[in-house]
Amino acid sequence: MDKKKRVVIALGGNALGNTLPEQMAAVKITAKAIVDLIEEGCEVVVAHGNGPQVGMVNNAMIALTHEDAQQPNTPLSVCVAMSQAYIGYDLQNALREELLNRGISDIPVATMITQVRVDEHDPAFDAPSKPIGKFVDAEQAKMMEEKYQYIMKEDSGRGYRRVVASPKPVEIIEIGTIRTMVESGDVVIACGGGGIPVIRQGNHLKGASAVIDKDFASCLMAKELDADYLIILTAVEQVALNFGKPDEKWLDNVSVEEANKYIEEGHFAPGSMLPKVQAAVDFAASKPGRTALITLLEKSRDAVQGKTGTKFHA
Ligand code: ADP
Ligand code: MG
Repeated sequence: MDKKKRVVIALGGNALGNTLPEQMAAVKITAKAIVDLIEEGCEVVVAHGNGPQVGMVNNAMIALTHEDAQQPNTPLSVCVAMSQAYIGYDLQNALREELLNRGISDIPVATMITQVRVDEHDPAFDAPSKPIGKFVDAEQAKMMEEKYQYIMKEDSGRGYRRVVASPKPVEIIEIGTIRTMVESGDVVIACGGGGIPVIRQGNHLKGASAVIDKDFASCLMAKELDADYLIILTAVEQVALNFGKPDEKWLDNVSVEEANKYIEEGHFAPGSMLPKVQAAVDFAASKPGRTALITLLEKSRDAVQGKTGTKFHA
């Protein structure tokens, strides 16, 4: 029998929805797509984003400080940990059920709470860029700046939002355990929300006030696990040149060289498609035989079979 293909999947916002009921419904569809890949003979590791969820947890924890003066505010790293557990629970619950529905009862599913080390001197700490949480008005924004030392920024005429640093992932602390689980045949959910950002202080890992990009964390995990594929699942079936313009061109196959040229030409929006393409290129260039795919959740099986998606190769 052929050796199983090891696949790291990075789930985007549309795989999880924005609210509790939306997520509960979305994970059922997500689980189908993931089990399709398992039936295809892949060893699957799942990573995911947490934008809406970490914002929701953060807001809930702020509300708690209003209700109870004894409660200090919750660090963002703890909010990321809570979001990993919440999303991991919904995903592992749905995956288990989908596996059983297809008569597969010998594949355990588990979530690994994952810390990811970042460099405390990462320039991203001096230039917070990632908006999280809900929109507030100018007055509330000022209060949050004073009370919690948050950095609040006006977001394209829609109000103010908290912005946090998004440093690059350097080391996945629990990678050894994740590898052991994958090698024993488990489906592992790890590096949720890009991982809990920590900085090293001797033997202590200190939670950092940041949210790591899940596309970059997934890329690092795929390299560390020596995966064959990094599959970034998002809201578009393929990546485009001149996206949204009359001369839009959907891409099937892209070499690392071509992709770097397209990045320089500015085809991919920062904060959405750019980190995905950067992660895809980084993975594809890292070792011969490694392939990255960007596609729609529902198309992941077709993409692995080479029928759709945008494929990045060395
Ligand atoms: P996710 O939640 O999966 O990370 P994002 O919304 O952050 O998704 O990024 C995916 C979005 O990027 C697509 O839905 C699309 O609107 C946008 N996008 C920007 N540039 C491009 C491009 N060149 N090709 C395809 N999609 C693009
Ligand atoms: Mg995104």
